[in-house]
Amino acid sequence: MKKRVVQVCPVCKKTDIDLHLGGYLGIVYRCGSCGYVGSLVVEMDVEDYLAMLKHGEGQ
Ligand SMILES: [Zn+2]
Repeated sequence: MKKRVVQVCPVCKKTDIDLHLGGYLGIVYRCGSCGYVGSLVVEMDVEDYLAMLKHGEGQ
């Protein structure tokens, strides 16, 4: 059974991640929400992500 994984922006914690294949940098991601561009995104299980969002709402 395959786990569902989401790619999460390390800056704004949104999932609006676009994949760019950027020349000499290799794989580059761009966040459509905050404009973050970089090779690092956080990959996490969908359920963990939803749990994180719920946890954050209370603060
Ligand atoms: Zn972002």
